[in-house]
Amino acid sequence: MSKIRLLTEAVASQVAAGEVVERPASVVKELVENSLDAGSRRIEVAVRRGGISLIRVVDDGSGMDRDDALLCLERHATSKIRTGTDLAIVSTMGFRGEALPSIASVSKFRLATRPKEAMAGTEIVVNGGKIQSVRDAGDAPGTTIEVRSLFFNLPARRKFLRTENTEASHIEHQLQVQALAHPEVAFVYQRDERLVFQLPPGAGLGDRVRDLYGQQLYRELLPVPATASEGTIQVTGFISQPGFARSNRSQQLCFVNGRAVENPAIHAGLREGYHTALMRGQYPVTFLFIQLPPGDVDVNVHPAKREVRFHRPSEIQSAVADAIRAALQEGKENWRGRMTGGPPAEVPTRDLEIPDHPPPGGNPDTTPDVPPRPPPEPELAIDPPRPAPSVPTSAFHPEPSVTRTDSDRLEPAAADRETPEPARHDFRILGLLGKLYLLLESAEGLVLLDQHAAHERILYEQMMRQMESQGAASQGLLFPVIVEFGPRESDWLRNHLETLQTMGVGLEPFGEGSFKVESLPAMVRLRDPRQFVRAVLDELMTAGRSASKLRLGEDVIAKTVCRHAVKAHDDLSRPEAVRLLEDLLACELPYCCPHGRPTMIQITYAELEKKFGRRT
Ligand code: ADP
Ligand code: MG
Repeated sequence: MSKIRLLTEAVASQVAAGEVVERPASVVKELVENSLDAGSRRIEVAVRRGGISLIRVVDDGSGMDRDDALLCLERHATSKIRTGTDLAIVSTMGFRGEALPSIASVSKFRLATRPKEAMAGTEIVVNGGKIQSVRDAGDAPGTTIEVRSLFFNLPARRKFLRTENTEASHIEHQLQVQALAHPEVAFVYQRDERLVFQLPPGAGLGDRVRDLYGQQLYRELLPVPATASEGTIQVTGFISQPGFARSNRSQQLCFVNGRAVENPAIHAGLREGYHTALMRGQYPVTFLFIQLPPGDVDVNVHPAKREVRFHRPSEIQSAVADAIRAALQEGKENWRGRMTGGPPAEVPTRDLEIPDHPPPGGNPDTTPDVPPRPPPEPELAIDPPRPAPSVPTSAFHPEPSVTRTDSDRLEPAAADRETPEPARHDFRILGLLGKLYLLLESAEGLVLLDQHAAHERILYEQMMRQMESQGAASQGLLFPVIVEFGPRESDWLRNHLETLQTMGVGLEPFGEGSFKVESLPAMVRLRDPRQFVRAVLDELMTAGRSASKLRLGEDVIAKTVCRHAVKAHDDLSRPEAVRLLEDLLACELPYCCPHGRPTMIQITYAELEKKFGRRT
C-alpha cells in the first residue's frame, strides 16, 4: 500500500497557518492588510490579553457578498490575482489567499461583512477550521473579523507565545508600521479596553510620525528631499539626523511599495548614505519609502512577506544612499541655521522684490535688466548674534576691564572683548572649558564645541579630499624614528604601506620587523610618532579582525589615523580656535566626527531659563 497520503483540507490549513500565523501580531498584520486592500478609510483594532484571547478588526472597506464571504475561507481563494503574470506585478498587500483560512483553522473565528449597496450582510462563525453557522447580519457596511482563543487547538504553538505584554507590543509595532504606510487612513487601537491611539485620517507622513512617536523624535528627523530620486526608483520619507541613532533596528523602518520590509540592499544603502555620520553598532531611525515598478521587485519570497527580492539590488542601494546623502546635505544647512540662528539655506524671497528706487520711467516688473541685489552672504557672514528675547545678552559679557597677561591664550570661560573678532560667522568665542570644549555664544544660547571631535572631522575630510587628488599632505620627520613590530604586525604593515602612505603616514621597511617612520600627516602635531604609529596599527588590526574578510577601506584607515592624530587637552590659542571653528563649518558633515559623535551641542536660552526657574 502506498505510504503517501493527501492531507485533509483542515490539516493542510493548519500547516499553512504555521507559516503565516506566527503569533497574534501576524494575525493583526494579515487582517489589517486585507482591510487596506479593501480600500478602507478607517480601521479599528481591539485586542485582549496580548491578542491571545481576542483580536477584532473592524473596517469600512468594500465588504463581501455572501458567496465571497464563504469563498474567502477556502485556501488559495483570492480576489487579487488570477494568473502567474498578475503575481509578477502584484500591487496589493495580499495575493496568496491563505491568511483567512489559516487564521480560521487555528482560532474561534467570526466574520461579519456587508458590501455598501447590499441590504443585508453575512455572518460566518468558524471553529478551528469548521464552519459552525452562516446567517444574515445587519452590520454597518464593511467587514468585522474577530479572532478568539488563538491556537486553542494547537497547544504546541500556544506554548511558544511570550507574555501578553510582549505579544501586545508586537501588535502595537505592527499597527504603527501599517499606520505609517497609510497616513490617509484613520486608525484606532484599543488594548484591553484602553485606547492606545486614535489617528485621524488624511494625515501626511510627518503628522503620522509625530502622532505615533511624539514631537521629540520628530524634531530629530530630516525629510528626504523630493529631488533625491530619479529614474523609476523613488525614495521619500524621514531619516534621523547624525548623532541620533539607536542600538538596534527597531525604528529603522523601510517600506517598498507600501510594504514594510527588511532587505540587505536597503540596509547597505543606509550605511553608505550615512557613511561617517553613524557610529559603529548604531542604527538610524528611518521612515523610508521606496517606490518602484511592481515588476522590478519580487514580493513572493517570504511566508510573512517581510522580505522582498529586488531584480537590481545595486540600483536600490545607490538610490537609498543618494537619498540619505541628499537629506543629510539639506539637513546640514538647517543645522547651521539652527546653531547660528541664521536662516536656512533658501534665498530669502525679499531678494526677488522690486528695488527701492526703480529706474525712472521703467516699470520694474517688466525691466529684466535690473541687476538683482547680490544674494546674502552664506551663514558665515550673517549679522552678529541677536540677543534672545527676554535675556539681556550683555548680562553674559564679562567686563572689558578684565586684564589679561597672556592675551593669546584662551582662559577658561573668559571672553575677549578688547580684540573683537570680525563678524565672519555667527558664533562668538567665549572661552575654553576644561581644555576640551570651546564655549561659543550663538543667537540661541550657549554652544559647546568638542575640540577633539571637531578636529577629527576636519582632518578626516581633508585627508579624504586630498587622497582623491594626490594623497594626503605629509610632513617629513626631521629625525626619522625606527619602530619594531612582531611578525604578524609587520606582515600587515607591509601589505598596507601604500594606503598608509596616501594617508600621509610614510613608513619604510627597515630590516626584519622594523620600520622607519619617515613622515606623518601634515596636520598632526605629535610628541611621540612611535606611539602614534603603534596605536594606529593596533586599532586597524582589531578593526580588520572584526570585519573578517572585509578589506580595510581607505576611509577606515583615515578614520583611525584621525582619531590618533588629534589630541585633546591642547591649549588652543584664539586664532587657532577661530580657525578650528571656521574649518569645521566648512566641512561636508560638520555636525559629527567621523565616528558619528556630535561635534557641537547647544544649550538654548529657553533651556537655561528653565534651569534658572525664570520660566516654567
Ligand atoms: P489574500 O489577501 O491573499 O487575497 P486572504 O485570505 O487574506 O487572501 O483574503 C481572501 C480574500 O478575502 C481576499 O482576496 C479578499 O477578496 C477577501 N477579503 C479578506 N478580507 C477582506 C476585508 N476586510 N474586506 C473585503 N474583502 C476581504
Ligand atoms: Mg490577505
